Amino acid sequence: MKLIFERSVPGHGCSVLPECDVPTVIPEGFCRQSRPRLPQISENDLSRHYTELAKQTHGVNDGFYPLGSCTMKYNPKINERAAALPGFTGVHPLQPEEDAQGCLEVMHRMETMLCGITGMDAMSLQPAAGAHGEFTGLLLIKAYHKSRGDERRTKIIVPDSAHGTNPASAAMAGFSIVNVPSAADGCVDLNALQTAVGEDTAGLMLTNPNTVGLFDKNILQITDIVHKAGGLCYYDGANLNAVMDIARPGDMGFDCMHLNLHKTFSTPHGGGGPGSGPCGCKDFLAPFLPGPRIVRNETAYCMEYQNTSVGSVKAFYGNFLVVVKALSYLCMLGREGVREASCNAVLNANYMMHGLSDLYDMAFDETCMHEFVMSLEKLKHDTGVSALDAAKAMLDYGIHPPTMYFPLIVHEALMVEPTETESRETLDEAIAIYREIFQKAHENPDALHHTPAHTPIGRPDEVAAARKPVIRYDYEAVLSEND
Ligand SMILES: *Cc1c(COP(=O)(O)O)cnc(C)c1O
Repeated sequence: MKLIFERSVPGHGCSVLPECDVPTVIPEGFCRQSRPRLPQISENDLSRHYTELAKQTHGVNDGFYPLGSCTMKYNPKINERAAALPGFTGVHPLQPEEDAQGCLEVMHRMETMLCGITGMDAMSLQPAAGAHGEFTGLLLIKAYHKSRGDERRTKIIVPDSAHGTNPASAAMAGFSIVNVPSAADGCVDLNALQTAVGEDTAGLMLTNPNTVGLFDKNILQITDIVHKAGGLCYYDGANLNAVMDIARPGDMGFDCMHLNLHKTFSTPHGGGGPGSGPCGCKDFLAPFLPGPRIVRNETAYCMEYQNTSVGSVKAFYGNFLVVVKALSYLCMLGREGVREASCNAVLNANYMMHGLSDLYDMAFDETCMHEFVMSLEKLKHDTGVSALDAAKAMLDYGIHPPTMYFPLIVHEALMVEPTETESRETLDEAIAIYREIFQKAHENPDALHHTPAHTPIGRPDEVAAARKPVIRYDYEAVLSEND
């Protein structure tokens, strides 16, 4: 398909800007000398261009999208309506508190609900994503040790089944990382953990359910070991979709955590934002939370700036409209609905795993949480068809592949997270497709090396796309090519 620049025809256009009626304040010398070369295109062609572009992608609204670790569930449109209400979109961050009571109430109610769901005592809605929430939580841990004059604690323990952002966030926060391996059952190796903790342990970060889709059955021992060594426990709650109203990190000994509103609580994601990764903590860490905190006194909501805070991690109050969507979603579900969502997420994953486990090898052949990991190592060995080939083949059936080659601790991994919003019929169709691909791998493996055949793009050079992205239209190159 053509780029918008290639559709441009001089003289075509669809915008009529009003005459400038304010003084031009840009100093002489800073103004551009020539007009920007924006595409010139009629409104009709513009609209067709973007419609065509939209048709080339796959989203939750197009079909099954079981991208493990991402919770690509359906987000009810009504929540977008709530977030589009003029009272929410028109508010200014510097508006006086008394004019923004409704917005403050939204944030305060959200914090209270999230504390209820997680068992934490306080929450900050400021972080803009999961990894950002992790970073914030680690700053709390750092501030806590510092406040006690205990500055030897410079290490964060991260099990190898953690999400990749965990060690990255710990490094960003200035800690060094101690890796602990998983035992054969996919849970943290308790002996290795016991050996890893010590006087230099600042804390542990646990992704639970972990990246192989398992709830760590030794979770209480894990938090106990870390606490006895004087460290704090951080819970990566991005996988909260599996455990809402069933198990609470706060009851399992965790001191702080984050969760992802854009995974679990109804914000479409995948395009790079906006997201929200609230960071919650127990009372003793609350003085360090980023500000401002929203508090309710007898008559009104107000903002409180704490001088013990680690400081702001984002301008103003975070991505407020994501919070509005999440609140709308939670009010709609109610407590029972929240639990049902988690139960169905786990049921759907187990249903699908069960429908495949006679053909595909499961990385861990036991009841999973909201996602499961298959290893195609044997299939590759027997037929030459890799996890990549199988994933690409799915595109020709009009479904999105699962996450590939993650987690790293499983070879030829495909990580499937169906989510609770898929019907049994959709799961049955997907199971049939996965089974057919398995069959094809044995009958005609060569064909699978060349899939997909029916998508706008076949197999892009993924390394070049990541390392040398072309994100700017190069007029000069095109003009000289045309010479
Ligand atoms: C998605 C995810 C994250 C990171 O969240 P972002 O919003 O992408 O920064 C962290 N941990 C786990 C377990 C996740 O699934």
